[in-house]
Amino acid sequence: MEPLDALGRPLHDLRISVTDRCNFRCTYCMPKEVFGRDYAFLPRDQVLSFEEIHRAARAFVELGVQKLRITGGEPLVRRDLPSLIGMLAALRTPDGRELDLTLTTNGAALRALAGPLRDAGLRRVTVSLDSLDDAVFGAMNGIDFPVARVLDGIDAALAAGLTPLKVNMVVRRGVNEESVVPMARWARDLGITLRFIEYMDVGHSNGWRLDEVVSAADLLAAVTGTWPAEPGDPAYRGEVAGRWRYLDGAGEFGIISSVTMPFCRDCTRARLSADGKLYTCLFATEGRDLRAVLRDGSSDADLVAFLAATWRVRDDRYSELRTLSTRGDRPDLPRVEMFAMGG
Ligand code: SAM
Repeated sequence: MEPLDALGRPLHDLRISVTDRCNFRCTYCMPKEVFGRDYAFLPRDQVLSFEEIHRAARAFVELGVQKLRITGGEPLVRRDLPSLIGMLAALRTPDGRELDLTLTTNGAALRALAGPLRDAGLRRVTVSLDSLDDAVFGAMNGIDFPVARVLDGIDAALAAGLTPLKVNMVVRRGVNEESVVPMARWARDLGITLRFIEYMDVGHSNGWRLDEVVSAADLLAAVTGTWPAEPGDPAYRGEVAGRWRYLDGAGEFGIISSVTMPFCRDCTRARLSADGKLYTCLFATEGRDLRAVLRDGSSDADLVAFLAATWRVRDDRYSELRTLSTRGDRPDLPRVEMFAMGG
């Protein structure tokens, strides 16, 4: 039983946030002025247990989910994460296939955890890195975390076989634009796929302004001005990154253009926050309380029915509406913070 939403989109991907905590304080996501020492993160009993996450994921898989991405906060700060990976890696689609199981991380703890995660059944990782310049990166991550330690984490992930490894770079005008071409050069040399992400208006803490977005068109011009590239085909429906293949054969890069070229019509993604809220859009204002269903004695069949019913009425297309109705000015709608939703 694979439900379609109100706009005919299937449910293929699930992003699971395993914690709202993070060891970084990226200015565009969890700025330290807001998320300081006395910030009240979720108490433990409100965070889904591994058993609850596994049960929810199994129900999603029954409804057609083929890809699971573990995120956060910073997922590697959740204690004993490899155990959860082991549980999720054992899931199979209704026709017996393995899932595409991956994780997004800032890379800080990969040196320690890449091996255990791989052994537990993780297939690959995406690492976030916004610059190779320590001054730029340190200012963006909010804690002066050195580039070399992320690069070391990436080395550890490659050595552990967590491939193909992707790197995500959020580009903010006037902050790290100068890092675009050096990052592209580095990724080409290493043979990994770099994906540029347009700075998005998620949450309220980051004080987003449209003029800080470096558009996909500008990013493309910056990279292809140095290394010509041609469009590649999407790997599957709902792939968020526009793919570009270098003409000299040195691999590819991607651009995630959710602001200037929204891709809502192909969005097949649901999101589960650390406290068990189910969101059907990154820009959703409200989630459905899946934790309550997991904890109120409902059967697995009830759980599947709840998820299917939620998906069938889904009509979210925030990014397209933003473009249509506001021409990019910041719409004044309440939004959930990225760190809570998991990006
Ligand atoms: N801590 C992990 C990490 O650093 O990858 C996972 C969670 S993080 C919220 C997921 C991704 O969202 C990261 O690549 C981050 O750069 C991106 N992100 C956060 N806020 C963003 C924003 N306002 N616009 C675009 N991307 C953003």
